[in-house]
Amino acid sequence: MTRLHVDWTACQGRGHCTELLPELLAPDEWGYPRSTDDTKEPAVPVALLPHARRAVRHCPRLALHLVGP
Ligand code: SF4
Repeated sequence: MTRLHVDWTACQGRGHCTELLPELLAPDEWGYPRSTDDTKEPAVPVALLPHARRAVRHCPRLALHLVGP
């Protein structure tokens, strides 16, 4: 299962990814992305892979990654 990973050393919490992928990410009280299913690395359903790839491409800090198959 492909998962989303946030590099917390790079993320600046501007929340762009939460706007592009609200199904999997929501902003916490400081604007950092948290998983909507409360897991560290949310699983990405196949149907959401194109949206997840788009969010990864648009992360201004290159902090968002897809991991796994
Ligand atoms: S878009 Fe990138 S830098 Fe911005 S909150 Fe998401 S992971 Fe962090």
